[in-house]
Amino acid sequence: LKEHNARSLWHPMAHPADSLANPPIIVTGASGVRITDVDGREVVDAVGGLWNVNLGYSCEPVKRAIAEQLERLPYYSIFRGTTNDAVIQLAEELRAFFAPDGLSRAFFTSGGSDSVETALRLARQYHKIRGQGTRTKFLSLKKGYHGTHFGGASVNGNANFRTQYEPLLPGCHHIPAPYTYRNPFNESDPAKLAQLCLAALEDEIAFQGAETIAAFIMEPVLGSGGVIPPHESFMPGVREICTRHGILLIADEVITAFGRTGSWTGSRHWGVQPDMAATAKAITNGFFPFGALMLSEAVAEVFETDTSGKGAIGHGYTYSGHPVGAAAALACLAETQRLDVVENAAARGDQLYRGLLRLQEKHAAIGDVRGGHGLMCALELVRDRASKAAPDKTLGPRVLQATYEAGVMIRVSGPNIILSPSLVISEADIDVILAALDTGLAVAA
Ligand code: PMP
Repeated sequence: LKEHNARSLWHPMAHPADSLANPPIIVTGASGVRITDVDGREVVDAVGGLWNVNLGYSCEPVKRAIAEQLERLPYYSIFRGTTNDAVIQLAEELRAFFAPDGLSRAFFTSGGSDSVETALRLARQYHKIRGQGTRTKFLSLKKGYHGTHFGGASVNGNANFRTQYEPLLPGCHHIPAPYTYRNPFNESDPAKLAQLCLAALEDEIAFQGAETIAAFIMEPVLGSGGVIPPHESFMPGVREICTRHGILLIADEVITAFGRTGSWTGSRHWGVQPDMAATAKAITNGFFPFGALMLSEAVAEVFETDTSGKGAIGHGYTYSGHPVGAAAALACLAETQRLDVVENAAARGDQLYRGLLRLQEKHAAIGDVRGGHGLMCALELVRDRASKAAPDKTLGPRVLQATYEAGVMIRVSGPNIILSPSLVISEADIDVILAALDTGLAVAA
């Protein structure tokens, strides 16, 4: 298998040429919060798939719902007048689920990048229909991650996920993220930093001209950029600025929706109602590629009352509203509520965060510990903690290997170790993760 992996699978992050994949870990089984590799080793998955397996791998009601839907109606397209019963039922459930976020309509996609892409396209179209066709630009946060399509890549804050594919969408500008550990203002107070970042947003809007900006997109807690939770004043501040300038606020909730932050959605965590929310990942627990872009009533109405007939053109994927994905999502929503995973995410998230702070006292390589908002935590590795000057990108792969050997799978992204286990994880398994990381950091140092 290892040889065939190198010969015929092309994925830049699973090829032996990638330092993290050398040797590649070939997963052959999964159950609960544990995965098994080709050599028969069983480890705790502290990554939770890729932030998506919120309910663990043995979620029987979801598997049953998928099997039953496959029997009854395996596929039918939503296209020019056709729809299906499973997806209508899901849209109704999501309408209730997202009511506190002010979002009432669901457009279905095959994943997070699709949801973001549709949000960006709809934002431009929304302004066009309202006679504000000059509003074409997008603002986003440095360190934000919004997927792999061209629109998403254009608003990605990390230059590594952007510049290689240029030219991208014109008119995308990136604002400093409220990243307390490192920022251009040298400000370590989270509240003061939030105000500085909001002022930078105001400055950028003034510089570009509000009448040229379609939308601002942000993750309520930045994920792939290294788990960066903003100060509580930040997202409400963004909301106020966007409203004042007629700019749509798109919440990228691909990671944060459905309980990850210890709140039902990331926006709700900060008490903010966005104009759109892009979701995917945990909506089907990783069991089916699926996503939903949620729209506010006001945004949906602009399309529905448009008499030009153009509102419907160009939106819709072959797999929009796939009935099997819809059945999986319905079962996931029911399980998320039945198992009270949101509460567990908050409690276990606190346990993990406190444990990581204890590890920081012991391991000099841990420069920063981020978390405290559900089961999204990160460690930032540095060569010299006192100066913070040198993020250590070489230590992570060694920590990954040593931690894996100690029984836990972690994720390494640049200088960051990212931890995002399933929301159903037990207190004892959080301790397993902390103990393995402790060993991994000591062995790799
Ligand atoms: N937005 C965010 C915030 C994400 O974390 C991701 C995936 N990591 C995406 C968008 C893209 O989602 P997908 O990989 O399902 O296309």
